[in-house]
Amino acid sequence: MSASPSSNQWVSGRYFDGRSSSSSAVRARVVNGALQLEVAGKTHSYAAEQVRLGVQVGSANSYLHLSDGAVLESLDVTGLQRLSRALKHSGGDSWLQRFEVNFKLIMCSLVAVLAFSVLGVLYGVPWLSNQIAYAFPVELEMSIGEEALETMDNLWMQPSELTEARQQELLTAMSPYLRAMQSDYPAHSLQLHFRASDALGANAFALPGGNLVFTDEMVALAKNNEELAAVMAHEVGHVVHRHSMRNLVQSSLLVFVMVSLTGDVSAASDVATGLPALLANLSYQRNMETEADDFALAFLRKESIAPQRFADIMLRLDPVALEEEGGAKGEQDAAGRLGSFLSTHPPTPQRIERFQTQD
Ligand SMILES: [Zn+2]
Repeated sequence: MSASPSSNQWVSGRYFDGRSSSSSAVRARVVNGALQLEVAGKTHSYAAEQVRLGVQVGSANSYLHLSDGAVLESLDVTGLQRLSRALKHSGGDSWLQRFEVNFKLIMCSLVAVLAFSVLGVLYGVPWLSNQIAYAFPVELEMSIGEEALETMDNLWMQPSELTEARQQELLTAMSPYLRAMQSDYPAHSLQLHFRASDALGANAFALPGGNLVFTDEMVALAKNNEELAAVMAHEVGHVVHRHSMRNLVQSSLLVFVMVSLTGDVSAASDVATGLPALLANLSYQRNMETEADDFALAFLRKESIAPQRFADIMLRLDPVALEEEGGAKGEQDAAGRLGSFLSTHPPTPQRIERFQTQD
């Protein structure tokens, strides 16, 4: 690239060699991409990268700082700027190349930040939530669970319509399993409850601390106690892995991460940032379901119950949910039906296969 023609013009000023306080008259210009100085009859030459333009705030003077510590001072500010520009243009350091370098740098940084954020959200947030959730005492979870049960009883659940005898029979059948699981996790208090609920349909869920709720419809769906034990083991998996607490912490952390990344408090409800948050949450949910499945599988094997029992009842849920969805269409909102067991526990082929092949 050629030097601009104007750079041949001389700029006059004072030269400080950087060692003594005295100065000499100097004139400077750019020749062949290098700064040429004439001081006391001698010529000095500096390559472009050896020269730095400095503008002193509040002063009429400008400076060219040279790599050997010498300084060229001049009142001709525009002249020095012209020299500086000419040096940059003549060097390999064109604006386009600088832009390209910067662009690559920016893209690299952007990719790095993105990758870091994605990894952070996918692995960092769950890991941290895990640490935090386990730091909370189980007693706190139990009191949250008690309140949750009370709230659900007020809003969506009624006393079970199963006879007292049937409930007792089920509790007796399940109690050895509950005791076996409880013995490994003495801090938790695993308790089985039966409820009627139009809103929840055929459902089973675990509340923080260890309250396990089965709806009458879920009990009716089971062909034997082993199927109920299998579902119960899955739910206990959620309890002992502190999933409710982790969910709570994760959601808060996720909002915090999204706000940090976007610098926008409304980001949490934004579609653009809400979607990644939603996807992240789905991934957390899937991981938790896998964890609960792992727990159930290990338990069923230990108790010599065929893992197939879990697959059986899961697959039987499928048509029930379809029928309900068809029947409740249009009046779904009025009925206030909540998410079904199926929506949080989709019997995906991978999940079912795990329980079928481990017989
Ligand atoms: Zn689950």
